[in-house]
Amino acid sequence: MKGIVPEKWDMEYDVVVVGWGSAGTAAAVTAHDQGARVLILEKMAKGGGNSSICGGNIIVPKGKEFLEYLDTLSFKTTDREILEAFVNEALQNGDWIRQMGADIQVFRPLEVAYPTMIAGAGFPHVKGAENVVKYNIKGTPEEGKPSQRLWKFLSGLVAKRGIQVLTSTPARELVPNERGEIVGVIAEREGKAIAIKARRGVILTCGGYENDPWLKWDYLPVKPLSFLGTPANTGDGIRMAQKIGADLWHMTRLACLIGFKAPEFEASFWVAFLSEGFFFVDKYGRRFVNEAGIEIHEYYRELSHFDMEKMEYPRVPLWAIFDEQTRKRGPLSRGTAGYNRDLYNWSLDNSAEIAKGWIQQGKTVGELASKISVDPKVLEKTLARYNQLCKSGKDEDFGRPREDLRPLEAPFYAIQLWPSLINTQGGPRRDKEARILDPDGKPIPRLYAAGELGSIWGFLYQGACNIGEALVFGRIAGKNAAAEKPWS
Ligand SMILES: Cc1cc2nc3c(=O)[nH]c(=O)nc-3n(C[C@H](O)[C@H](O)[C@H](O)COP(=O)(O)OP(=O)(O)OC[C@H]3O[C@@H](n4cnc5c(N)ncnc54)[C@H](O)[C@@H]3O)c2cc1C
Repeated sequence: MKGIVPEKWDMEYDVVVVGWGSAGTAAAVTAHDQGARVLILEKMAKGGGNSSICGGNIIVPKGKEFLEYLDTLSFKTTDREILEAFVNEALQNGDWIRQMGADIQVFRPLEVAYPTMIAGAGFPHVKGAENVVKYNIKGTPEEGKPSQRLWKFLSGLVAKRGIQVLTSTPARELVPNERGEIVGVIAEREGKAIAIKARRGVILTCGGYENDPWLKWDYLPVKPLSFLGTPANTGDGIRMAQKIGADLWHMTRLACLIGFKAPEFEASFWVAFLSEGFFFVDKYGRRFVNEAGIEIHEYYRELSHFDMEKMEYPRVPLWAIFDEQTRKRGPLSRGTAGYNRDLYNWSLDNSAEIAKGWIQQGKTVGELASKISVDPKVLEKTLARYNQLCKSGKDEDFGRPREDLRPLEAPFYAIQLWPSLINTQGGPRRDKEARILDPDGKPIPRLYAAGELGSIWGFLYQGACNIGEALVFGRIAGKNAAAEKPWS
């Protein structure tokens, strides 16, 4: 697409990076270290995006056979050569982090929780799964949660190099010249448009569309969806890239689990149970799944069942039913990750959330059912059946393993849960050089992308690969953009 190049630019850099998360940092630092003058544009008052509030796990595969695993998971939605480029570079993730002055340690979950955060492969039966190893930035809990350590490390790299960052400055449009090359960005600063010339290239790293209601409603397989991460990721990069003729891919893909949504908070709270004393029911009080057996990033698959008679998703929202022992075992939202982590401290015994009405309580299951507008007879029957299965040690209905079964005792509690996005994966399609492509598969000159904006994860997702991918394609994009010949 041809555009109008402004007669006068307000600023001039070699490489302009849009969005300051892990992909933006890896891109900016790499381009800077290749000698480019780099500007980072960030929409919010501070950087970090999802990267600063995530679980902090980073993939560093054990060996090249990781490619076979990813190839199976991708179900041919991503070309093998792109996956190969990813694996080759991901093998270097640990070395890159060490070169940059930090170190890594293997991720080990501190406690058993449901949904289970697993250290290894999400799909252990798939060939090559033994190559999955998740790491985080080395440090103790006193030095911060894993993603706090990650962001301290990444933001430190930008500060150390004196790379210019303009915060509270969202990018609004890309500027193509008469040859269709992307030669700059129009951003908004203090209510005014500023034109920034990019002599070598522009790199989009401005995240997915977790907080764009329409894109979510239109593309994603379960509705409505809340989100756990930053409210800032509203699909801006998708619209900017579409306007200049980019192809899109992986738009229906997501990593998603369950969360509690309080009206006074924009994002959902990540909910996990520290005791096996709970089960899930749909809107009607019916159990529907082995609650202990869902792959943590693929939760939506269990929630996306659509009832065509009733024209609704009966499992959206769902309810978790639990008992006193589970209530006392620990907070339902532990604040390990998510946007609300830094905004609210969930009480250790969940009592504050009961007082707020976020958690409903009943002396009997019938009383609880009435409070959550479920037919008491149905919930009583579900509980009786569940307790009977627990006592027999065999979940004949959904196959929940014996060690994850414990009968529930009064008093009972319920919390309403929604499918909640970890992140979306779709956006502008890119090649192994991180170049954004048009619908004919031709690179749009001087335009690159990295991170969850058009990520390479097109079907099943392996945990720790989003940060891993943001670092990998950030480095590839930074290197290639810096190597472009200046256009004037
Ligand atoms: C609760 C949670 C746990 C997770 N745990 C893990 C994990 O353990 N391991 C893993 O691999 N992945 C995990 N993820 C996913 C992972 O965090 C993200 O996919 C990854 O951080 C994406 O990095 P990014 O740099 O592409 O985007 P982000 O880190 O989200 O950065 C995008 C940036 O772009 C900015 N931006 C948006 N629009 C504009 C605009 N118009 N102009 C300028 N700036 C803009 C945003 O403000 C933001 O700062 C988790 C996510 C969440 C929410």
